[in-house]
Amino acid sequence: MSEALVVGSGPNGLAAAVTLAEQGLTVTVLEAAERIGGGARSGEATLPGLLHDHCSAVHPFAMASALLCSADLARHGLEWAWPEVDLAHPLDDGGAAVAVRSVAETARALGPDAAAWQRVFGRLGADFDALAGDALRPLLRLPRHPVTLGRFGLRAVRPATLLARGWRTDRARALFAGAAAHAFQPLDRPLTSAVGLLLLAAAHHRGWPVARGGSGRITAALAARLAELGGRIETGRPVRSLAELWPFRVVLLDLAPGAAADLCGPELPARVHRAYRRWRHGPAAFRMDFAVDGGVPWRHRDCRRAGTLHLGGTLEEIAHAERETASGRMPERPFVLVAQQYLADPGRSRGDVHPVYAYAHVPHGYRGDASEAVLAQIERFAPGFRERVLATAVTSTGRLARENANYVGGDISTGANTALQTVLRPRAALDPYATGIPGVFLCSAATPPGAGVHGLCGVLAARSALRQAGVRPS
Ligand SMILES: Cc1cc2nc3c(=O)[nH]c(=O)nc-3n(C[C@H](O)[C@H](O)[C@H](O)COP(=O)(O)OP(=O)(O)OC[C@H]3O[C@@H](n4cnc5c(N)ncnc54)[C@H](O)[C@@H]3O)c2cc1C
Repeated sequence: MSEALVVGSGPNGLAAAVTLAEQGLTVTVLEAAERIGGGARSGEATLPGLLHDHCSAVHPFAMASALLCSADLARHGLEWAWPEVDLAHPLDDGGAAVAVRSVAETARALGPDAAAWQRVFGRLGADFDALAGDALRPLLRLPRHPVTLGRFGLRAVRPATLLARGWRTDRARALFAGAAAHAFQPLDRPLTSAVGLLLLAAAHHRGWPVARGGSGRITAALAARLAELGGRIETGRPVRSLAELWPFRVVLLDLAPGAAADLCGPELPARVHRAYRRWRHGPAAFRMDFAVDGGVPWRHRDCRRAGTLHLGGTLEEIAHAERETASGRMPERPFVLVAQQYLADPGRSRGDVHPVYAYAHVPHGYRGDASEAVLAQIERFAPGFRERVLATAVTSTGRLARENANYVGGDISTGANTALQTVLRPRAALDPYATGIPGVFLCSAATPPGAGVHGLCGVLAARSALRQAGVRPS
């Protein structure tokens, strides 16, 4: 019999399982799908031999995770790889803004905005470890670095459109808007700057790496570490009620709050039940993978060296597209993210045929086909792209939601990043991981610090569970 059960084998479920097992608990992970990994899986999708990431592609916040950077996971095959350029944002005039590790180099290329970029990101990039220590955890806790967090907070609370007024050029404003758009929110809402600031500070600190051999290596390494510690994983094992799991000492749920409420049933205290039911999901993603002969013919040469590209034009255009998707309307020109992981990890390609990854932001529950809109955005900055595409794979919003119950309506963030849900996720509580049922905790991306492959939700939830169980960390 296992003392601890983890429902769901996404990066947070597995990080929680490893954290519990490291403290000597016997752990079993129960995964609904036939394969482990949730949002961090890889495999073929277009042509034989080409390696594609099915969900997560690039991992800026993994660098803030002691577990994902640990020697233990490296021993189990997790290796990080960096492209020459972390982020490129092409514009219609043929130019592009780029973010690289060096703040000075990034700033210099922004011309008249060099000093303003340096002013915002010089300090944030340098202080990233301290900042991440406070910002990537529950925000209702006393900060360890109040000055750093306060300096960040003064900017972070502002809408991205407001903060961007500090830059004069379209390039700097667009570079920031593209990063802020990862919030999947209208950019004129409070706190949308937080995501943009954190992502760009991460770029200037340790870059935006990919996992060598595919994002699936992240969850494979976590699973291997769990096995080494005596833990087990059962796949094809959907859990529908808490009753299925008795008896247990600790249960961690790598689930969206609504699913956790269903699973816990009447045992959940009424106030927690109400909060989980109130949890809102946000806009969705529409995914495409391409096999591209010779790579994408980007007009701007820096785009040909970039691991990640943000396609959406100017700040005004991105703000419009994000407003439309949040209002449930499909924009003609959606915000599109493209990743070229093979630049950092050439083993994913076959000769000169390369796997290229993309997704568009689309409305919640979008039922249409956004393929043409994605292709048009790429073609806009890389004329001739279509002729180079040898094969395409499409993952509709509906399929994303069917394959992983956490992606309600295709929302890949497991919850809308509204101001309220950013600060109080998944509910207002000193311990946001606790469900109110003794021994039962939520550990998914709906808990702090939120979406992304970093495993921090899992680690922090497991620590909460261990504290309640009276296990002192060794
Ligand atoms: C298309 C896409 C692109 C993304 N791109 C990036 C990126 O580039 N970088 C980045 O950092 N992040 C990215 N993300 C986000 C990231 O993948 C997620 O935030 C992360 O995977 C969340 O981890 P998790 O463990 O909380 O949940 P998930 O990874 O969603 O895992 C949850 C697991 O629980 C299982 N499950 C659900 N219900 C049950 C049940 N009842 N019983 C048993 N098992 C169950 C699911 O099958 C799944 O395996 C992306 C996500 C998607 C979908």
